Amino acid sequence: MSQQSSNRPDGDLRNTGMSLKHDREWDYELDRIVEAVDERNAGTVGLQFPEGLKRRGPGVADDLRELLPDDVDVMISGQPCYGACDLDTFLMKRTDVFVHFGHSPMKESDKIIYVPLFSNVDVFPIVEQAIDEQLTTPEEDPDVGLVTTAQHMNKFEEMREYLEGLGYTVHTRRGDDRLTHEGQVLGCNYASAEVDADQILYVGGGKFHPLGLAMEHPEKHVVIADPVNNVVTVADNEQFMKQRYASVHKAMDADTWGVIFCTKIGQGRWEQAQEIVENNEDAYLITMDEITPDRLRNFGLDAYVNTGCPRITTDDGPQFHSPMLTPGEYKIAIGEKPLDSLEFDTFHGTW
Ligand code: SF4
Repeated sequence: MSQQSSNRPDGDLRNTGMSLKHDREWDYELDRIVEAVDERNAGTVGLQFPEGLKRRGPGVADDLRELLPDDVDVMISGQPCYGACDLDTFLMKRTDVFVHFGHSPMKESDKIIYVPLFSNVDVFPIVEQAIDEQLTTPEEDPDVGLVTTAQHMNKFEEMREYLEGLGYTVHTRRGDDRLTHEGQVLGCNYASAEVDADQILYVGGGKFHPLGLAMEHPEKHVVIADPVNNVVTVADNEQFMKQRYASVHKAMDADTWGVIFCTKIGQGRWEQAQEIVENNEDAYLITMDEITPDRLRNFGLDAYVNTGCPRITTDDGPQFHSPMLTPGEYKIAIGEKPLDSLEFDTFHGTW
């Protein structure tokens, strides 16, 4: 995501519950890191933190240095990081042990230690309020889907039991390979919500995930129980959808197109990008890691198609100087698909 504007929409990636609004203590699992350094006789350790926790990086490095032998070097990644799709492969290649904090594994690797950083916020008061205020009673409709983010995964079974204890039939699944856990959602993947229930209870901080969920599953009633900001709301995708239609309409006049292939390890959709440029002689494939308005401005093309993180398109899209579309929206803009086929762009699988 770009960090261009202080006036950001609800879908801001920094509102994922990882922000420091409540100054929570996290378990950085330093013992596990020290053990791995010892086992591998490592001389170098790389640390990567998500944006909301970068300011903790130096402190964690200090704590680790105290626990590790003096000749072990600890380095911190300064690359932007918004997901497990976003590993700092440069630092990873140059360190013996690479630690990725704050996200669950998108793909396991011996080289990487994932430290998920479970939230210690009590979810149950807000879950209880969400049930009272926004879910139907079990007598009216017992079926409910339950989803959450990696930060609250440690409470998932307890939440399920709680709902079942009230008489609900709780529907859950592990969406696909991109997800580590049953019931887990990502900003680009809501396959865990494809369950046989009209209402979905999302438990987690911020609106970023549930808004994506409401866009991907507009037929479902998505109730947000936010234990970080202590609020219950219902996800409403109307504003997002209006923005998407506006961008598609603007792009219909475009003569020249930039097709972005993202070089981040978990965000590449090469075939999709290739297919577009092969079929449009006024389209240019542009490779980049971080996709920001400033980086695109100098190309001066009429419109862009983003095959990288779909949330850059949907959440940051209005900040770009030319319309930015998802691959599906591009097909609508060039007349290959009808306007009513507009849907949320999702990512599946890993790399
Ligand atoms: S591609 Fe998916 S997991 Fe990666 S930053 Fe975007 S929404 Fe998050």
